[in-house]
Amino acid sequence: MEIMEKIVSLCKRRGIIFPGSEIYEGITGFWDYGPVGVEMKNNLKREWWKYMVYGREDVVGLDAAIVMNPKVWEASGHVKSFVDPLVECKICHQRFRSDKKSEIDAHEKLHKDEKVDWTEPKMFNILTEVYLGVTEPKQKAYLRGEITQGVFVNFRNVVDSTRVKIPFGIAQIGKAFRNEITPGNFTYRSREFEQMELEYFIKPNEEEGKRWFSKWKETRLEWYKSLGINEKNLRFRDHEVDERAHYARFATDIEYMAPFGWSEFEGIHHRGDWDLSRHKLTYKDSETGEEYTPWVIETSGGVDRAFLFFLIDSYREEEKRIFLKLHPKLAPVKAAVFPLVRNKENIVAKAKDVYKMLKSHFVTAFDDRGNIGKRYLAQDEIGTPYCVTIDYQTLEDGTVTIRDRDTTKQERIKIDELVGTVSKVL
Ligand code: ATP
Repeated sequence: MEIMEKIVSLCKRRGIIFPGSEIYEGITGFWDYGPVGVEMKNNLKREWWKYMVYGREDVVGLDAAIVMNPKVWEASGHVKSFVDPLVECKICHQRFRSDKKSEIDAHEKLHKDEKVDWTEPKMFNILTEVYLGVTEPKQKAYLRGEITQGVFVNFRNVVDSTRVKIPFGIAQIGKAFRNEITPGNFTYRSREFEQMELEYFIKPNEEEGKRWFSKWKETRLEWYKSLGINEKNLRFRDHEVDERAHYARFATDIEYMAPFGWSEFEGIHHRGDWDLSRHKLTYKDSETGEEYTPWVIETSGGVDRAFLFFLIDSYREEEKRIFLKLHPKLAPVKAAVFPLVRNKENIVAKAKDVYKMLKSHFVTAFDDRGNIGKRYLAQDEIGTPYCVTIDYQTLEDGTVTIRDRDTTKQERIKIDELVGTVSKVL
């Protein structure tokens, strides 16, 4: 089985990701995160927020609405320019984006002996329309195609209501929607997804622009590395001039070596003064009185893509088990507690006590089904760093066995030491 198939199957089996609307045959490009997946996704977003907002003194947060006045999208250029070039294979009528060369090549290979003839590219706007109100004609609006514009339209509100001074950033995490021509590669290209973005406002100056652009590139790469992604699977790729989005002065992608090839999961964009000047917004320095339109360096990451790449990167197969070598900070469950046997009341009661105690510190699971080996396997598959077993000896001397996910080594420690041991890796 290909690695992607294995990941998809693991996600279904362990409640990480389910196909959207599955009992009605699904719906292309939409996915649901299950009980385990939602924990890991929240961890990912929390780590990002800690690093990008709480870890700094120059960034504040925001949570803007998904639907905005459509004038926002006209001003930002998305109604006109948020387009992808659609081509159709004349043999099988499948549609593709002509700017995704690897996907075009892969499709041409599928047809082997026949030469694929493509239709002329047609530009296709990927904003998703919604209709509001009860009387006809209803008001047309859009689900946001990027979360970014919510930051720009609130630029003045943030400046007026907080103590920020240039240079400063506004961070946001939230859903975006794109009517993608070719959703695929599991959650990689979806129609509904989440973004985690920073818009960093600087003085309009070439040197400042270059300095902050390279600073943010490095800072963002560091974050992925700090959460354990193998460096060898990461690279920067600068956009060619003709590939840049309509707003970008220059742009670099952080790419991951996915099983389907090098793939973008975060874009660092120098947006210049494109957006603020489109929305006719300026900044006035309260000390010097100087008024200008700031430039913006943006770091725009996909929560779902990062999630997928953390999964792929941590996936391990050994002779007798599959496990996710996830950074403990991302692991959906931090510890699991097992009573050695389920028919000894005092062992089960002790295990419940330990479970409750750990649960008040971090996400903890309790499992008393089947044999211990199977319980380990289940926790390994969702990347739980520690499994704790309560046995006969526990009742005598207050010690438990703690098993390490990566080495499978077991140690005996005191119940009092459990919280400290697990917390150390968090
Ligand atoms: P692509 O060319 O792969 O469609 P993009 O260059 O249009 O992506 P950006 O507009 O730069 O993407 O969006 C910023 C980030 O948002 C991307 O790096 C990615 O992580 C995420 N993203 C964009 N489109 C999708 C999507 N359809 N599904 C999941 N995540 C997405």
